[in-house]
Amino acid sequence: MTAYDQHNRILRDLRISVTDRCNFRCRYCMPEEIFGKDYAFLPDEHMLSEQEIGRIAAIFVGMGTRKLRITGGEPLLRKDLVHIIRRLSALDIEDLSLTTNGSLLARKAAALREAGLHRITVSLDSLEDDLFLKMNGGRSRVQPVLNGIDAAAAAGLQVKVNMVVQKGFNEEAVVPMVDYFRERGHILRMVEYMDVGNTNGWNRQHVVSKQELLDKIGAHWPLEPIAPNYEGEVATRYRFVDGKGEVGFISSVTEAFCSTCTRARLSAEGKLYTCLFATKGHDLRALLRSGQSDEEVARAVSGIWSNRHDQYSVERGSNSAVHKQDGPRVEMSHIGG
Ligand code: SAM
Ligand code: SF4
Ligand code: SF4
Repeated sequence: MTAYDQHNRILRDLRISVTDRCNFRCRYCMPEEIFGKDYAFLPDEHMLSEQEIGRIAAIFVGMGTRKLRITGGEPLLRKDLVHIIRRLSALDIEDLSLTTNGSLLARKAAALREAGLHRITVSLDSLEDDLFLKMNGGRSRVQPVLNGIDAAAAAGLQVKVNMVVQKGFNEEAVVPMVDYFRERGHILRMVEYMDVGNTNGWNRQHVVSKQELLDKIGAHWPLEPIAPNYEGEVATRYRFVDGKGEVGFISSVTEAFCSTCTRARLSAEGKLYTCLFATKGHDLRALLRSGQSDEEVARAVSGIWSNRHDQYSVERGSNSAVHKQDGPRVEMSHIGG
């Protein structure tokens, strides 16, 4: 049962958030003022269990999904993460990856690899403790994250590093980050700050565009564009002319890539979102817990995907302040980017 949406996009990727909790309070994602002591996170019984995650993933794979990414919140806070990965790695997929803030990775990298994880993306916004602490709400210094990256590479995981660049905050961290990861052979990808969720006070003035980043990096190390690894790759790739690896740019504000967006997102409580900027999710947990068969769930997912019109970034355009929608958007910490 292959599903195509209203713009002829196939359902090829599923991003699975395994928790809405996080040990960081990044300003652009879970600002402390909102996600403070009194914030109501999901109770355990509302979250999908390991078995339910495995079942939904298997249904998607049966419908043609080939790539799975685990995210959060912070996925490494989930105690049964290794079991979840083992379950997912047994499915007939091309790619199984995980996005993490890396702070707890050093101790867990080998077990994740052993459970069948292919790749890992570690988020890191600066190599300077002061700035990093300011960005993550005072929760972690840089070294534990760098240790996590080293442990993941040593365990045989392919590592990429994602950096969100915000004007007036960490622009000056870009060149040192490029330098550091170029020397270590890891691909650094710079992410344009996005207006995702409702709590980060996003403003177009805080976005550093891909072009500005290219100019900044190119002044130190000349770059040239290279072809995507596959159609629909989110990051655009550039290689260093001196042959020392590559960097990537995820420029959803200035160069929207909705036309090739084959990604669905599952929140920790089992809601399916067809866009990162969606205002409404579809409750798959209710289907599972009311005794529907796999075929019935697959039919429901196929119906949701066939009705999909989403192209938020294209509609927002690259210059508008904030795009109007019919309700509050889902938070990034619910669906994990
Ligand atoms: N906690 C994990 C982490 O930070 O990698 C996984 C979840 S986090 C929501 C996934 C990714 O979204 C991270 O790379 C983070 O930097 C990115 N992100 C969060 N808020 C963002 C925003 N407003 N704009 C761009 N990227 C954002
Ligand atoms: Fe946590 Fe990741 Fe959001 Fe930072 S970006 S607050 S690490 S979920
Ligand atoms: Fe996909 Fe929505 Fe992002 Fe466009 S805005 S690329 S449709 S998630």
